Amino acid sequence: MKKNKLIAGNWKMNGSFGANQRLMDEILTGIEARKPACEIAVCVPFPYLVQVQDYQDRSRDDSGEPMLHLGAQDVSAHKAGAYTGEVSASMLRELNVAYAIVGHSERRQYHFESDALVAEKAQQALAAGITPIVCVGETLAEHEAGQTESVVKRQLAAVIHTNGHCISEIVLAYEPVWAIGTGQTATPEQAQAVHAVLRAQLKAATEHADRVKILYGGSMNAANAASLLGQPDIDGGLIGGASLKAPDFLTIIAAASV
Ligand code: PEP
Repeated sequence: MKKNKLIAGNWKMNGSFGANQRLMDEILTGIEARKPACEIAVCVPFPYLVQVQDYQDRSRDDSGEPMLHLGAQDVSAHKAGAYTGEVSASMLRELNVAYAIVGHSERRQYHFESDALVAEKAQQALAAGITPIVCVGETLAEHEAGQTESVVKRQLAAVIHTNGHCISEIVLAYEPVWAIGTGQTATPEQAQAVHAVLRAQLKAATEHADRVKILYGGSMNAANAASLLGQPDIDGGLIGGASLKAPDFLTIIAAASV
C-alpha cells in the first residue's frame, strides 16, 4: 500500500505571536481549500505550542482527524525531575504534540548531543505516544571524506539499539548538514542513495521497515521538492526556511500530494 508522505516544517528559533498567526492563517486556509493527500506537521518553538495547538484543533477533516499536526523541536531524554530548562515528553503529550524532532544537526553541533542521547530522546517520545522525527546526516567534511554511509548508519544504529522493535514507529530524516540552510541541496539521486541505505538498515532491524517514513531535509524548497519527493525511498520532507513562507510551504505540500 502506498503510504502518505509527510511534510514537516521546522521553524527553528523563529516566530512571534503576530507572525505565527499570519503564517498559520494562510497555511490553514490553503490546506482547507486543497485538502492535500499528505500528512503535515509544523515543529515550533516551545512557547508557541499552545498557539499552534489551536490550529491543529481547527484543521480537522470530515472524519475528525487533524490535517495539520503539532510538533516540537526537541524533547528531554529524562522522564521528570531535576533537569532545569528541559521539557519532558509527557508535558508535550499534554499539549497534544504529535511529533518531536530529535537529533537535529544544530542540536548535535551546538549542544553536543551524542548518538546515545538522541536515541534516549526518541525512546522518551515513543513512550509518551509522540512520534520522534530522528535526524541523521553527515557534515561537509565527512561528505568530502566519503564517510556519508558510515556516519548515517552509526547514527541510526544507536536509535535501533535503544528502541528495538519500536523502531518501526519512528520517522527518520536524512539531513546532510552541508545542505541545511545553505541553499545547496543533495541531488535527488544522492538523497535516494542514502535513503536506500537507511531503508536496508531498517529492514535488517524490523519486518515493518517499509512503514517507516524517511524524510529528506536540507534546502528543500518550492522549486526542487517535486524531484526529491519523486524518489522511491523519499517519503516526505523536513523543511526549514521554506516552512516560514506559506506559499512555498503549500507548494511543497502540493508536490507531496500527487
Ligand atoms: C532543517 O532545519 O531541518 C532544514 C532542513 O532547514 P532548511 O530547509 O532551511 O535547509
